[in-house]
Amino acid sequence: MTEPKLSPNSANVDQEQFLTILSREEALARFEAALFPRDLTADDLALADAMGLVLANDVVAVVDVPPFDRSNVDGFAVRSADLVAAGEALPVRLLLNDEVIACGTAPQLPVKQGTATPIATGGPIPRGADAVVMVEHTQPAGSGAIEIRRATSPGQFVSYAGSDIACGEVLLRSGTLIGSREIGMLAASGVARVSVVKKPRVTIISTGDELVQPGQALRPAAIFDTNGAIVTAAVSENGGEAHFLGAFPDDEDKLEHVMREALATSDMLILSGGTSKGEGDVSHRIVARLGEPGIIAHGVALKPGKPLCLAVCDGTPVVILPGFPTSAMFTFHDMIVPVLRRLAGLPPRNDARVTAKVPVRIASELGRTEFVMVALVEGDGGLIAYPTGKGSGAITSFAQADGFLKIDALAEQMPAGTQAEVTLFTPHVRVPDLVIVGSHCTGLDLVTEPLARAGLSVRSISVGSLGGLSAARRGECDLAPIHLLDEKTDTYNTPFLVEGLELVPGYRRMQGIVFRAGDKRFESLNAEDAVRAALKDPSCLMVNRNQGAGTRILIDRLLGEARPDGYWNQPRSHNAVAAAVAQNRADWGMTIAPVAHAAGLGFMPFAEEHYDFALVTARKQRPAVRAFLDALASAEVQKALERAGFRPA
Ligand code: AMP
Ligand code: MG
Repeated sequence: MTEPKLSPNSANVDQEQFLTILSREEALARFEAALFPRDLTADDLALADAMGLVLANDVVAVVDVPPFDRSNVDGFAVRSADLVAAGEALPVRLLLNDEVIACGTAPQLPVKQGTATPIATGGPIPRGADAVVMVEHTQPAGSGAIEIRRATSPGQFVSYAGSDIACGEVLLRSGTLIGSREIGMLAASGVARVSVVKKPRVTIISTGDELVQPGQALRPAAIFDTNGAIVTAAVSENGGEAHFLGAFPDDEDKLEHVMREALATSDMLILSGGTSKGEGDVSHRIVARLGEPGIIAHGVALKPGKPLCLAVCDGTPVVILPGFPTSAMFTFHDMIVPVLRRLAGLPPRNDARVTAKVPVRIASELGRTEFVMVALVEGDGGLIAYPTGKGSGAITSFAQADGFLKIDALAEQMPAGTQAEVTLFTPHVRVPDLVIVGSHCTGLDLVTEPLARAGLSVRSISVGSLGGLSAARRGECDLAPIHLLDEKTDTYNTPFLVEGLELVPGYRRMQGIVFRAGDKRFESLNAEDAVRAALKDPSCLMVNRNQGAGTRILIDRLLGEARPDGYWNQPRSHNAVAAAVAQNRADWGMTIAPVAHAAGLGFMPFAEEHYDFALVTARKQRPAVRAFLDALASAEVQKALERAGFRPA
């Protein structure tokens, strides 16, 4: 029996992928070994055109800056020895030489003992002089003389030749990114042209039948192409010249044609999508036949980002990023940026890091280096890092995050309370002025709007009502929005408060049954009757909510023991319920009135829910908290809430 041969051109590549998952270190090392060392192409450019580019060589100063000893002030060039004894009681009189040294004037006369020469800021120090006295420290003393009443030390107000930049000194190192400061230094040294690294031309292609470019209409089952925009921007951020070709359907022949064309004119080719082992995943099969040595890693022990595919095709790096935007971004930054920066002649990224406490346990998959995005807030005992992840498909987790932490491949979890190192997305920590942790609601944005206008930054982290209460108890936030019904007392929120927290009444949200407008089964019924009718009709499909949601408690009340079809469809948000009904995946569900109306659905009110705020009493006097409370009580916000379908408490 012969061994089955694993050819990268055959469907067996999927099988191979599972056999050869590399660690991130191994994958990166192999990728870099296949690409470097290599010569970078340099361009000789005029200084004005070099802005934003990277120096290809060290620049050595060929002149001294300043080129001569010069005066730093307007005043008089003197011999300091003449003024050693000068003081309030002992003025020294100096005769003025018959010239004035302006900027750009070469001195003609020496400064002899007992004399001084008028000199302007920037003027060359004449022969014999070794110091300058400021004009403010002199008095005229008859014609052609001045009087000085303070001692002067040698070198006072003199910049010596080469003291700024010395001839022969390395002015700027190769790899320096040229900005206005660098341009200034080069100009001061008389450098008119510089050798810069030619930006690597990076072609970006999105793949997937489902992708639509932003600005175009979203057809059913389609999504906007996120990776195209974000990878293009990230390439530019890291020294590449990005060329985005758009999104292409999963058509092997067409895609291969586009890829071959792009490869001919690119220093790097980056695709996203189509790298898993699904039916339509064709890009990695194409990469395998584009040139030698071909695929270097397909499957890396990263989370998110396992399906990452790295290849080198006849010297050109070809990368297929995973399709999910978060996975695409993490793998791009962790595995592609180091290579791209080397191609661009840039030094490795030097991201700022801080240490922060992780308030909750984070589970992690054994065997994969895991990246977890976190939002930083100021807790009572220092920085707190809240995981913002919503899964690798979520893009907002990026927007809300300040950075990420890494969980080692060999760890199964990061325990609550860990002091973790957080790599920042920005050079500095930006701790928000107001931290809101709890249940999210679209109405909240209306309350915080005046704060944003006043320049206060607000961070809202949605972890549900109970999670918010825990965070408030631990002193990790200012406010926790909650909507919890205590069934025993049939009251909202107050029974859940503990010492140190107080209730700030928020607003009311009407919960009710949604259905598609025009659905005869529900029209003109009230909520209870509608659910009764739905339960009698076996073709009627519901959409539920997740356990622990305030809405779920209300649904359970209506359903009693019944478990109709659709009961196990339990999305986690008001909007998902509306989308399921609007898109005909369910016939009814429960959501809040503003969401129902925004989705154009029929709505039968059922119960008014209290959405209030648990305020950490110890933080009540903070300016941002006071601003929040003022905003909440303001007529402006109350009106905005009403317009959006909420009822102020
Ligand atoms: P794939 O790797 O092609 O199977 O894609 C995995 C997931 O990522 C799918 O849900 C895709 O719809 C999604 N995806 C792929 N490419 C993009 C993109 N450019 N923008 C947003 N989502 C994408
Ligand atoms: Mg795809």
